[in-house]
Amino acid sequence: MKAVLFEQFGQPPKMQNVVDPTPSPAGVVIKVEATGLCRSDWHGWMGHDADIVLPHVPGHELAGTVSALGKLVTQWKVGDRVTVPFVGGCGRCFECTSGNHQVCEHQFQPGFTAWGSFAEYVAVDFADTNLVRLPEKLDFATAASLGCRFVTSFRAVVDQGRVKPGEWVAVHGCGGVGLSAIMIAAAAGANVIAIDLTDDKLEFARKVGAVATINASGDKDVVDAVREITKGGAHLSLDALGHPTTCFNSIANLRRRGRHVQVGLMLGDHHHPRIPMDKVIAHELEILGSHGMQAFRYQAMMEMIDAGTLKPQMLVGKHLSLDEAPAALMAMDRFEGLGISVVTRF
Ligand SMILES: [Zn+2]
Ligand SMILES: [Zn+2]
Repeated sequence: MKAVLFEQFGQPPKMQNVVDPTPSPAGVVIKVEATGLCRSDWHGWMGHDADIVLPHVPGHELAGTVSALGKLVTQWKVGDRVTVPFVGGCGRCFECTSGNHQVCEHQFQPGFTAWGSFAEYVAVDFADTNLVRLPEKLDFATAASLGCRFVTSFRAVVDQGRVKPGEWVAVHGCGGVGLSAIMIAAAAGANVIAIDLTDDKLEFARKVGAVATINASGDKDVVDAVREITKGGAHLSLDALGHPTTCFNSIANLRRRGRHVQVGLMLGDHHHPRIPMDKVIAHELEILGSHGMQAFRYQAMMEMIDAGTLKPQMLVGKHLSLDEAPAALMAMDRFEGLGISVVTRF
């Protein structure tokens, strides 16, 4: 099969012919019909992820059809249209059996712990636990765009953030994660404030549901601005970028007993950001994380998509071919673009 492969971290990935994957006993092979490009792929290529073993094929936001089955798989058949969350649970450890596959102790991540979906075929382990059936109406490109940023935002806003109608939600950063979170929080009946450095992203944020925007460039005091709009602070706030400044602001702009959810990854020098712990104590703030979403929670999200309450297709940006993927991947740190780029031609 054709696959985009890199042999050294930071060296240009190349399209190559490699051996077709075979399914593990509990796994399947999926014929990839669409795969999204994500900044996590760029971090993986740069060597920031300890799980990656070289040579490597990236890609973790995928949708396609089942093309081969392991002998232990009981819930799926060849030809089923499917997607998977970027974190797959083993289905057997304590976290999985208590319903928290997103923090499984033996998690499977295509494109990180194994070869990913920048290829014609990808093997996915623990299929009965992690595969998600696609509704007839949902196209492959939109389905692929859900697997990482959209589901993590859904869990961050709905499950971890416990958003309620009428609440104020602040979203710091309007890339793929932030725009997803804005759409989901607005659909849940919240009033959303979008914060970013560029006006075109803020304009797009309004299109997906933000009722107020703050351009954080220059010497703007974001915390004061959020407090003023919300008359006292946000009930729920997300750092959708993953930066010490946005993390600090997202906690500091909360009202008493507010909830902060960290969604953007903190990598490299940013591992341990400064947080206003005095406020966390005095105002009884909550600090939460969000890491993917269990396959069984897709049903609630798919029903909102089916009803038209959520429109993830609005967040799909450019369609690419697989041979355009290496250049696009290498540029991910510089230019994310508006919306999620998806490879749909193989
Ligand atoms: Zn597990
Ligand atoms: Zn991703």
